[in-house]
Amino acid sequence: MVNKFAKYLEAFLLLFSISGRPKASYFYPIADKIKTKLSAWKASLLSIAGRVQLVRSVIQSMMVYSISVYAWPIQLLKNIETWSRNFIWSGDINQKKLVTVAWKKVCTPLGEGGLGLRSLLRLNEAANLKLCWDLLLSKEDWAIILKKRVLRNGNVINHHVFSSIWSSVKTEFSTVMNNSSWKVGTGQNINLWLDSWCGGTLAQTLNVNQNVLVWLPSKVSDIIHDQKWNIPFHLELLFPTLKNIVQKVTLPVEPLEDQLCWNNDSSGVLTMKDAYDFKRLHFPVKAWAKTIWCKEVPPSKSLLVWRLMQDKIPTDDKLVERGYSLPSICSLCHICSESTFHLFFECNFAVNLWRWLAYILGKALHFQSLEDIWKFCDSSWTPQCKVAIKSAVINIMSAIWFARNNARFNNKPTHWKAAVNWIQSNVSLVGNKTSCCSYSSITDFIILKKFNVSIHPPKAPVIKEVIWHPPFGQWKILAQIQPS
Ligand SMILES: [Zn+2]
Repeated sequence: MVNKFAKYLEAFLLLFSISGRPKASYFYPIADKIKTKLSAWKASLLSIAGRVQLVRSVIQSMMVYSISVYAWPIQLLKNIETWSRNFIWSGDINQKKLVTVAWKKVCTPLGEGGLGLRSLLRLNEAANLKLCWDLLLSKEDWAIILKKRVLRNGNVINHHVFSSIWSSVKTEFSTVMNNSSWKVGTGQNINLWLDSWCGGTLAQTLNVNQNVLVWLPSKVSDIIHDQKWNIPFHLELLFPTLKNIVQKVTLPVEPLEDQLCWNNDSSGVLTMKDAYDFKRLHFPVKAWAKTIWCKEVPPSKSLLVWRLMQDKIPTDDKLVERGYSLPSICSLCHICSESTFHLFFECNFAVNLWRWLAYILGKALHFQSLEDIWKFCDSSWTPQCKVAIKSAVINIMSAIWFARNNARFNNKPTHWKAAVNWIQSNVSLVGNKTSCCSYSSITDFIILKKFNVSIHPPKAPVIKEVIWHPPFGQWKILAQIQPS
């Protein structure tokens, strides 16, 4: 608690000690702290998944205090992202790895094929957008004073103002205005022609020249009388369609205050989450993401499969693609050169493991691309059986990578039957531990037995006793017979 308060205090002291645009040197102490933390962690003892978790929960939370107040110098944010990236992939902030997933992809939600980290550059933009929103809507003294200094008739002033907050948020003013619209109350705060309050702006819809605007009424309140639309006669003559456009907007019965609403959210309120969602990159949803990131699979195994799905496993072919010159031979079969597809699908070692799975499932498996792995996981298995099969697929991939690394770096070959035993024991553990149930399906029953998993029957329905008394007096029974 004390620690948290100290951090808030630090952020606020920094805020009030700066006037004008913050210089990069003000942020060095925070950046240094992050660098020291990343360097001090015993990265070698952690898996990549563990390092991702550390960056997500410690580094990114450390940044939130100051990133929500200032526009950080972009180069400094890039530096912190480079340290975080190197730390995740190599365990050392100064050491770059050759085969990595692009940082912009890492910084996307799990469902879109990322690792759920947040891009600091986008987070900084989002924080400024949110601060700009708060500035425009807040009734607090700081916002009222600053607004008086920087806005004239709803527009941004052109000259420079010494304010650390304004220097951070002024670039977002147009974003707020372009992505929000006014809910009309009294109309006193809304520019009749240039604000968006009845679809687009009236100046655009009616094709009104900017030079003409000085001669026309400027506020929406100028065409409202007694909470009803009251368009002056000369305006109706000039713009015959104006009445129709305006009357589509319903005015409140009581003279309420005008309200700015964020277009991209149904509530109309811009939260920090909305702001980040607006600023971040969006990728199509990946169907396999839900399958690999779940409580039944340990994060380190999910991460290996995630790298495989991104086609970023550092096999020899990937190293050669990046200009590394090396003689390549598969460490498991010593026959072919090593590529990701060979290692996981074509190599004898892998083929034996997939054959074992095919025997258990009682069906042939064909893989032409990485996406094909998940096709048979989506078949109509019962929930418990699906968990077991998914676990088997993920453990097969882990076993192949583990055997490859053991052969290559420790000179210890692994027999495929030993790998099957290891996979079987893992699947048995996960299948027995899961809370998912299996219904009456003979095929699933056989599969679960082969995996050494005991079946979880569904919960029996609770039978409730209901006593019915016929009502007093005369009554009739109406029976309806459904035609078969
Ligand atoms: Zn091989």
